[in-house]
Amino acid sequence: MRAELILARGRIRTLGRAGLNPQSHLAIAGGKVLASGGREVMGLRGPRTRVVDLGGSAVLPGFNDAHAHVVYYGLTRFAADLSGVRGVDEILERLQEHSKGLKPGEWQQGMGYRTDELTELRQPHRTELDRVTGDRPAYIDERGGHARVANSAALAAAGISGDTQNPPGGRIGRDMNRLPNGLLLESAMRMVADVQPPPSLKRRIEGIVSAQELLVSRGITSVGAAVNRGFADDLRAYERLACDGGLRVRVNEFLSWELLEAASDLGIRTGFGGPMVRAGPIKVFVDGGAERVAMRGGGGVWRTTREELRDLVARASSAGLQVAAHAIGDAAIEAMCDAVEAAGATHLRHRVEHCTICPPDLQARLASLGMVAVMQPIAARFGRVASSIFFPVRDRKDLAAHRGLMRAGVRVAFSSDLPVIPDPNPWPGIRVAVEDQVNGVSLLASLRAYTAGGAYASFEEDVKGTLEPGMLADLQVYNEDPLEGDGDVAWEELRPRAVLLGGVRVFGSL
Ligand SMILES: [Zn+2]
Repeated sequence: MRAELILARGRIRTLGRAGLNPQSHLAIAGGKVLASGGREVMGLRGPRTRVVDLGGSAVLPGFNDAHAHVVYYGLTRFAADLSGVRGVDEILERLQEHSKGLKPGEWQQGMGYRTDELTELRQPHRTELDRVTGDRPAYIDERGGHARVANSAALAAAGISGDTQNPPGGRIGRDMNRLPNGLLLESAMRMVADVQPPPSLKRRIEGIVSAQELLVSRGITSVGAAVNRGFADDLRAYERLACDGGLRVRVNEFLSWELLEAASDLGIRTGFGGPMVRAGPIKVFVDGGAERVAMRGGGGVWRTTREELRDLVARASSAGLQVAAHAIGDAAIEAMCDAVEAAGATHLRHRVEHCTICPPDLQARLASLGMVAVMQPIAARFGRVASSIFFPVRDRKDLAAHRGLMRAGVRVAFSSDLPVIPDPNPWPGIRVAVEDQVNGVSLLASLRAYTAGGAYASFEEDVKGTLEPGMLADLQVYNEDPLEGDGDVAWEELRPRAVLLGGVRVFGSL
């Protein structure tokens, strides 16, 4: 077999058996790696082989971002951008400006503020939103994705009044008069989203297109597409785009827990699909975010009770479906371990999403139950600061426990949780995981968690994640070698020059 493309004279790190040792040549044919090595790879050159002289440029496998809210992020382009706002007035100004582009009666959304960045240090009140939205139903989402403020029209559309009870796993904020103030926490967020007209297929597709532009520009060639709720249409949107040849990133699509029955009735098992789009894990929330994580010491919000979780994991497992459980606090992670153990399903690689506070006893259980920890390495940075607010100090060594988990034998996959982290660039997280004073890991381990880790989580470790022969030719090229030099690289600004998916260029130029 002859190569279609040979990348020559580069610094190519396959992250396979050769680890971080660079090789100079890589041959590609049929969308896969044909060979890697030294000059001898040129022997695969045929009359139609394209040879690209890399002139010392660096090559790595494409990143696999195992947990990113692709459609949610994509839809933010249709919402008012509230990132960086410093006060309630600024939120109102941006909503007012954004509303000029909306049709009469169309719902308005705003996304990206954080309460702790507002000078008022509180959420806006619904009546403040009313001042600029009028009768139009509107809500704004905090960047973490666990809190929302709705205006009066949106609350009315959802039938939320002073008499409405808190839903299980959620809370309706109230003011001094016991009336709803607009704040909706955790599962209560859905009360307004459920009555909002769903975004059209066209909009979802446009959202995916804009999200994938950002992802590939950061060297990401595979993504675990996380969902917040029963967006059955997302799978349709990915498939439509893939059929039209417009999908440029491989998608492992999460299915919200509401779809468990439909998926199992259809006979869909985890991994159903092809190399571009596949149906992934069933997504469920165990605890909340921020100060609402479920700790063994008590407190937190249980969005799914232990009993419900056990039932769900058992049903999913018997249908051959992997479960991806949002679990941040140790009590939530423990509940997921209990559920997997009760289901006797160690072969399905059940996932703990975030896995933020994981003490050694749970690390050992995750390992023995064959589970995967899907983590955001950047959390090791802000988590150590935030932990003093949200978590007892004694839990700090258990926070972002990358090293402990890996030593215990747990497979770790890294991810961005876009748009919770507004830029999915993996490099800052890779560095944080290496440089973390408490639970630091090797550079190779960190890179593998952002490449092969995600492939393992989606049962594709034989297909992608390294640049060994036979693997998909998903790769990224850097002008300067990100792994060399004197440490003065600006990780936030590090961008690949070119990205190939199955040997085909999807970003930049070679
Ligand atoms: Zn998420």
